[in-house]
Amino acid sequence: ATPTAIMVGTGLGARCGILFRNADALEQAEKLTTLVVDKTGTLTEGRPTVSDVRPAPQVDATHLLAVAYALEKDSEHPLARAVVDYGTAQGVQPPVASTFQAVPGMGVTAQIDETLARLGSPRFLADAGVTLDHTVIEALESEGKTVVGVTVGAQLLGYIALSDRLRPDAIATVSALKKSGIKVVMLTGDNQRTASVVAAQVGVDEYMAGVLPGHKADAVEKYRAAGSLVGMVGDGINDAPALAAADVGFAIGAGSAIALDTADVVLMKSDLTSVLDAISLSRATLAKIR
Ligand code: ADP
Ligand code: MG
Repeated sequence: ATPTAIMVGTGLGARCGILFRNADALEQAEKLTTLVVDKTGTLTEGRPTVSDVRPAPQVDATHLLAVAYALEKDSEHPLARAVVDYGTAQGVQPPVASTFQAVPGMGVTAQIDETLARLGSPRFLADAGVTLDHTVIEALESEGKTVVGVTVGAQLLGYIALSDRLRPDAIATVSALKKSGIKVVMLTGDNQRTASVVAAQVGVDEYMAGVLPGHKADAVEKYRAAGSLVGMVGDGINDAPALAAADVGFAIGAGSAIALDTADVVLMKSDLTSVLDAISLSRATLAKIR
C-alpha cells in the first residue's frame, strides 16, 4: 500500500477508536484467516461473580467463604476479585493468612493456622493430591461456570462456582467473522467442560481449553505453523506473549498495560465489534489502492 493510503486508513481507524500501531498491522489485517480469541475478558466481560457456594459435608458455608476470602484477598485475578467482593457482601471474618503465592493458571496458596491452604481449579487441587467430588464439579461446569475448590491441609472445605457473562456483541461478532471467511478459535486457561459450554454458546469454530499462561503463544504458533495468517485478541497479562506471536495482535483497550504495549492494534472501545471494524477498514484501505 502507498504511505498515503496507510495514513488515511490509520487516521480513520483512530477516529473510531481503533489504533493501528504499525502500517504492517493495517496491511495484514485483511489477510487474516484465523482469529484466536481469549475467553475471559475478551469473549466474556471478564467480571465474574460468585453464583454458587457448595460447602463439603460438615463444613459451614461461612467458613468456606472466610477461608476463600483470606486466600484471594491479595490476588489480582478476576476470579479472586469476585470471591473477595462476595465475601465482603456476606460480611465474612477471614482468618489470618500469610506467605501468599499465586500459581499462574491454577490458583493460589497461603498459610492459614500454620497449615498450607489452597484455592484453585480442580486440576490444581487434584495435582496436590486432593480427592474431589466430580459430580458437583461437573454439574456446575456443564452450566458454563468456573469451579474452584478450597482446601486447608488435607481437608476439602468445598467449592465456589463463578460465572462470567458473554460480552453483548460476542455472538454477533463471531458469526460475522465466520461469515467473512475467518476461522474463530477460543483460547482459555479454564477447564474443558466450561470451555465447551461457552464455545457452543458463542459459536466459535474451535476451542482450546486448559491452556496454561505460558502456552498461549504456542497455541498461536500452532495455527501459524499450519499455514494460517493468525490474529489474536486478548486483554490479560497472560495474553501478551500470544499477542506478540500472532501476525496481528489486538488488545482490548480496557486490558492490562502489557497487553496494550504488545499489541499491533488497540481497540479503545473495548468491544469485540471493533475487531471486525479493524478488518473491514484494512480491506477497504487496501482495496482503494489496488
Ligand atoms: P483465562 O485464560 O480464562 O484468562 P487463567 O489462565 O487466568 O484464565 O486461569 C485459569 C484457571 O486457573 C481459572 O479458570 C481458575 O480455575 C484458576 N485460577 C488461577 N488463578 C486463580 C485465582 N486467583 N483464584 C481462583 N482461580 C484461579
Ligand atoms: Mg483473559
